[in-house]
Amino acid sequence: MSPNLQNIPSVDKLLNLDPINQLIQIYGRSLTIDCIRIQLDIYRKKIIQDQINLLSMDKIIDDIRDVLIKQTSPSFKQVYNLTGTILHTNLGRAILPEKAIQAVVNAMKNPSNLEYEIENGKRGDRDVHLRDIVQKLTSAEDVTVVNNNAAAVFLCLNTLGLKKEVIVSRGELIEIGGSFRLPDIMKRAGSKLVEVGTTNRTHRVDYETAITKQTGLLLKAHTSNYLIEGFTKSVSVEELASIGQKFNIPTMYDLGSGSLVNFKNFGLPSEPTISEILKQGVDIVTFSGDKLLGSTQAGIIVGKKEWIQKIKKNPLKRILRVGKMTIACLESTLRLYLNPDTLSQELPTLKIFTRPKEDIFQTCIKIKNHLDNKLSHCTISIIESNTEIGSGSLPSQTIPTFCIKIESTQKSLTKIENSLRKLPIPIIARMENKSILFDMRMIFADEESIFIENLNFLE
Ligand SMILES: *Cc1c(COP(=O)(O)O)cnc(C)c1O
Repeated sequence: MSPNLQNIPSVDKLLNLDPINQLIQIYGRSLTIDCIRIQLDIYRKKIIQDQINLLSMDKIIDDIRDVLIKQTSPSFKQVYNLTGTILHTNLGRAILPEKAIQAVVNAMKNPSNLEYEIENGKRGDRDVHLRDIVQKLTSAEDVTVVNNNAAAVFLCLNTLGLKKEVIVSRGELIEIGGSFRLPDIMKRAGSKLVEVGTTNRTHRVDYETAITKQTGLLLKAHTSNYLIEGFTKSVSVEELASIGQKFNIPTMYDLGSGSLVNFKNFGLPSEPTISEILKQGVDIVTFSGDKLLGSTQAGIIVGKKEWIQKIKKNPLKRILRVGKMTIACLESTLRLYLNPDTLSQELPTLKIFTRPKEDIFQTCIKIKNHLDNKLSHCTISIIESNTEIGSGSLPSQTIPTFCIKIESTQKSLTKIENSLRKLPIPIIARMENKSILFDMRMIFADEESIFIENLNFLE
């Protein structure tokens, strides 16, 4: 016989049970009572709708425990990124170097000289902690840091282009990840966008004829997430800088990702470094802290002292400034670049990018063996594939990798993909051509056993 409302125990009765008292020890009395009430309400509704067949005390206690676990487990948590996109914006971009983590822990636990000059006992400037190291690594005259690169671009525009014209090539009116659209950012920053050239071709003369007394800035944006190919022409950073110098107008390059070392030295696809770009004469370069740099979210503005000082004096800098954990993290990450010999071991992003293919293959074999047992109804193989760097870094170039490929019926794949996301440490995989792909590049040998343990919860 299905249960009726009289079969639901009272809160008081439940509170006298040992297992419930154990839950109170763990979760506290008030939260436990809250969760008991929530669960008893659910039973009431279900009984009225005739949706319950059996209601034992054991089941009630289990259900209450589940509600408590659900209510107390954090929303923000670790996942496995097997998507094959390393700097995945939705999955938190770069993972941090151990030394940077220690610096952040230290900043969290203790007072610091964040804005204090220890030498003369005066109030200081938080950007100072990054100045020497950035100068050393990029030869920039000065640096300032804000919350992210979007904020960096905004602050520069609002400082140099407020109520002025800012000239941009039509081929560089970028949208990054849906929410960063250059024309919209410019409008909000108070700059008047002056588009020059065409989508595929922009020439020096296009900039020169667009310059007026109202021009405040010449802006170049890195076309991070697309390529314009074929019959194309764009004005180089060097050329843009020379136009700026000729007309005495500042120039800026929104570089987006930006790297401090030449990735070619590590056998990877490469782009000019920040130092090489500054050498071409551009006044300001902005880039992200959590893309190729491999640190935390931040927008780094480097360039000529004259402009950086102006940017720092903008009242909006105070609104967009970073916290002490970001300063600690960035400084510590940047210091790793002083020794290029250890960089590919100390900087996780670089370690991931340069991981030998054979090593990834070995991990694939181990995990595949395990999956063969767990998912015996699927066809599982190891295939060659490509890892993407992500976050619009080097959009046309990938790194060869190995993936585990899981094939089955569409219905079964959808179910597996769903279960993977419900694991204690959710696995985010790549769905491709009626298969699930695991790019194992980010799971190193010392993480394999925890990875396998986690897979054991797969239903
Ligand atoms: C990524 C990117 C941005 C935005 O940077 P965030 O750090 O995500 O705010 C802006 N411009 C370019 C060219 C980018 O690649």
